[in-house]
Amino acid sequence: MSGIVTYSPAYTLVPTYECFNLCGYCNFRIDPGKEPWMTLSAAENTLQALQKQDICEILILSGEVHPKSLRRQPWLQLIYDLCELALRLGFLPHTNVGPLSFQEMQQLKTVNVSMGLMLEQLTPTLLSTVHRHAPSKIPELRLQQLAWAGELQIPFTTGLLLGIGETPQDWWETLDAIAQLHSRYRHIQEVILQPYSPGNQQTWDAPGFEPRQLPEVIAKARKILPAEITIQIPPNLVPDPDWLLACIEAGAGDLGGIGPKDEVNPDYPHLTHEHLLQILNSAGWRLTPRLPICPQYDQWLPQHLHTVVQSWRNR
Ligand code: SF4
Repeated sequence: MSGIVTYSPAYTLVPTYECFNLCGYCNFRIDPGKEPWMTLSAAENTLQALQKQDICEILILSGEVHPKSLRRQPWLQLIYDLCELALRLGFLPHTNVGPLSFQEMQQLKTVNVSMGLMLEQLTPTLLSTVHRHAPSKIPELRLQQLAWAGELQIPFTTGLLLGIGETPQDWWETLDAIAQLHSRYRHIQEVILQPYSPGNQQTWDAPGFEPRQLPEVIAKARKILPAEITIQIPPNLVPDPDWLLACIEAGAGDLGGIGPKDEVNPDYPHLTHEHLLQILNSAGWRLTPRLPICPQYDQWLPQHLHTVVQSWRNR
């Protein structure tokens, strides 16, 4: 078998690492108020330096400020301004900053070509374990986000975090829920299957998801999800090239954003583009860059975003 595997040449901007949740497996967050937020001028310097590189997507990834905090509005404004800045400098923003209100999503839709939120797992049992101190991880809240993204016609990426205390049955139920929402709104571009991979900062003490299991999960997910939804896997979390190829053979068609650092899993460096090429080419696969929005969704974009996306498609 051979074919095309896609990836997004991306860079991640983190407005703030502070987060009011405390997920047991997190290797990203810091306590609120510990560090200043990213400034627009620092972001501008970073982005200007990237203009000479082959980077298209700016992933805006942030820890969360509590919805009722007085700092919520400045936090959202910073995210909005970062997206606008990225657009002005010719990049395509994709924001993933946790659950948002309907109005917040509506506002960010005007400066993003797509957005995302991991569903992780729908089972409520995790609320008494790894998500005990993470109110943002209430499954209904996250399902609601996916529905709102559909109502707002935002091309959307979601996914499962595998190996955080759920059962295989929970995987299929979560995938079913995604498939059902997609059948209503047709807005899910990609589903990430992310193996939980322990890092140095987390408080939860548990072994990682066994990546050898991943091809089997992908094969079943491929049967549950409609064909137009791409399955994405993070190659830095599948360390053995043979397993990575097995995942692709099983139906994973995308490797996600490849950039200098995996901010969520800082202990697992991304493979270089050359290394990925080598692995894929050895088995007859072609590695191709893609934009953070699939062509079938271009018509959902407001005119100003449509124009920027078209200029990328015409390159
Ligand atoms: S995993 Fe996300 S929501 Fe949970 S503590 Fe870390 S940054 Fe916050």
